[in-house]
Amino acid sequence: MDYNEKMFELGNKGSAIRELFEYGKKRKAEIGENNVFDFSIGNPSVEPPKEVSDSLINLLKDKNPNEIHGYTSALGDNDARNSIRDFLNKKYKANIDSNLIYLTCGAAASLTISLNAILNLGDEVIVFTPYFPEYKVFIEKACGKVIEIPVDMSDFQINFDLLEKAINNKTKAIIVNSPNNPTGALFTKETIIKLSSLLRDKEIEFNHTIFLISDEPYRELIYEDIEYPFITNFYDDSIICYSFSKSLSLPGDRIGYIALSSNCKNNANVFKAICGAGRALGFVCAPSLFQHLIPYCVDKTSDISIYKKNRDILYNMLKKIGYEIVYPDGAFYMFVKALEDSSINFSKRALDYELLLVPSDSFGMPGFVRISYCVKTDLIERSKDAFTKLFTSYNK
Ligand code: PLP
Repeated sequence: MDYNEKMFELGNKGSAIRELFEYGKKRKAEIGENNVFDFSIGNPSVEPPKEVSDSLINLLKDKNPNEIHGYTSALGDNDARNSIRDFLNKKYKANIDSNLIYLTCGAAASLTISLNAILNLGDEVIVFTPYFPEYKVFIEKACGKVIEIPVDMSDFQINFDLLEKAINNKTKAIIVNSPNNPTGALFTKETIIKLSSLLRDKEIEFNHTIFLISDEPYRELIYEDIEYPFITNFYDDSIICYSFSKSLSLPGDRIGYIALSSNCKNNANVFKAICGAGRALGFVCAPSLFQHLIPYCVDKTSDISIYKKNRDILYNMLKKIGYEIVYPDGAFYMFVKALEDSSINFSKRALDYELLLVPSDSFGMPGFVRISYCVKTDLIERSKDAFTKLFTSYNK
């Protein structure tokens, strides 16, 4: 074989989200941009905060070009790492050490680097369904085995009976993602306390480290007045995988970080493994210009009140029509119950009304569709008719 079959499979198939996104582009060219209700992809619709463009212009004007476009240290520029530490320690009363921060090309790189740093062949990683489909790709490429556990459907929190049964001698890590893609649900402080306590017990029982990987690209996108349980404050062996893609609306600029808990066992060596994985994967020196931007924008977000408004309009509109929905506290996704058993067929039928809704099967939980409401508010308002017709087609 002159290429890797598994990689061929991944490249050949593409993700369900990307397929629908590509279909949407084609369809818009055919019938006009305004006639397609594209809720397929999580591309931020709110522009970056003004500080982003102002700071970029200043950096380009005032700084030495060879510095801002040049290589930084493999693990990232010191000013950027210090500013992330200061922000996290102030906002979340955390105890982050900048020596344990590694700058990355977004959350995807944060996850692949972290997984490759800690997994050995056959190690198991527990994920809660529904989950971001790329986890499976990343875990398997890092030689791990994916163990899926459904969340408790009544409140979208962890089902601890199932989790406890699933943890065994091979369990190396658990991935949490809150606020969640695809549901928008948030794990409560009580859930995180209970999870941390269970993992501590299991570490003692199995006599090895169990890492809690917190994938948090939506951490700054929470619409209710809820305290965010910052993972390293609750569990020592934790790794934060962050991205500025969503909070600063910079998904194409590929900038994020890994922050290893300063209380993690053996943290100096785990961090060396993170640096090693970054090196092995070719993820050294995250985009330099955007590293230099971080100190100016680390505490800023895009105007998230627009997403909140979108959420409220869409939620109320769909509820009124009759759809069943998980109430989303954050991120910019809504998880809506399909009106037939097959969410794939439901998503296909939605296309008849030019609605692009991602079937939930690829998130490891059939029976729902994901709606990305990071779109222009008027698109949501104009989609009412289409959602009503789709609903009526099942309830004649
Ligand atoms: N994790 C989750 C849950 C996501 O939704 C995404 C992107 O949508 C990522 C990771 C990857 O983020 P990034 O684009 O920063 O690599």
